[in-house]
Amino acid sequence: MAQKNTAIVTGASSGIGQATAKELAAKGYHVMLAARREERLVELKKEIEAEGGNADYKVTDVTSVDDMKSLAQETLEKTGRIDVFVNNAGLMPLSFMNKLKIDEWDKMVDVNIKGVLYGIAAVLPIMEQQESGHILNVSSVAGHQVSKGSAVYSGTKYAVRAISDGLRQEIDPSHEIRVTIVSPGAVETELTNTITDEDVLEAFKGTSMEMLKAHDIAKAIAYAVEQPPHVDVNEILIRPRQQP
Ligand code: NDP
Repeated sequence: MAQKNTAIVTGASSGIGQATAKELAAKGYHVMLAARREERLVELKKEIEAEGGNADYKVTDVTSVDDMKSLAQETLEKTGRIDVFVNNAGLMPLSFMNKLKIDEWDKMVDVNIKGVLYGIAAVLPIMEQQESGHILNVSSVAGHQVSKGSAVYSGTKYAVRAISDGLRQEIDPSHEIRVTIVSPGAVETELTNTITDEDVLEAFKGTSMEMLKAHDIAKAIAYAVEQPPHVDVNEILIRPRQQP
C-alpha cells in the first residue's frame, strides 16, 4: 500500500475545511492549510501543533491558477508528496434569479467551479506521477436538488459532481488515485454570511432544525480517505436527520 501522509485542505480557515484539517492532522497527516485569511491559518497551525500534529499554511486564492500551482509545489517541496487534496473552499450567496446579482453569480462560478478545476489541475499531474492520491471535491445536497434561491449555487454544485465523476472515470486504472464527492446538507458554519438577498434571509428565519457540525463532515471525509486503496467511496451524501 502506498504511504499516505500529506493532505492539502482548501478553505481551511473556517467551517468544514478547518474541522477536516484538524481531523486529518489528528490521524497523522501533515496538513497544508490553504485559504485567504492568513491570521486564521496561523491560529489553526498553532492549534494543530499544540495537539502534536504537523501543519503548514499557504495563503491561497483558489480563483488564481498561479496560487493553486504554488500551493501544490510548496507542499511537494515541504513533504515530498501530495496524498490527499480536499477541494473544499466555497461560497453560497443564495439569491433569487430576478435580483440579477451577477457579481455574486460570478464569484460562485469562480470559487465553486473554477477553484475546484484549478485545484485538480494543480495536483493531478503530481498524483499521476506518484501513481496514487485522493481528490475529494465538496459539493452539496444542493448539488442533488434545486430550491428557490439556490439556482446558481446548485448549478455550481451539480457541476462539481459532474466534474468529479468524469475525473474518476478517466483515472488510469493501474494508478491508486481515487476521487470522492462530499455532499453535505445543512452544516453550522459561516457559509450563510455572504447572503445579501433579504428575501432569502427572511426565508431562512424560523428554521429550527438541528444542523450538522463541521466535525461531522470532517469525520465522513476521514472515513473515505482511510479506506484501503481498492475502495473508492464515490460520494458521501450526509444530511441532518431532520433535513427533508
Ligand atoms: P465557511 O464559510 O465556513 O468556509 C468557506 C471557506 O472557503 C473559508 O475557509 C474561506 O476562506 C474559503 N474560501 C472562500 N473563497 C475562497 C477563495 N477565493 N480562495 C480560497 N479560499 C476561499 O463555509 P463551509 O465550511 O460551510 O463551506 C465549505 C464547503 O462546504 C463549501 O464548498 C460549501 O459550499 C460546502 N457546503 C457547505 C454546507 C453548509 O451547510 N455549511 C452544505 C453543503 C456544502 P477565506 O475566506 O479565508 O479565503
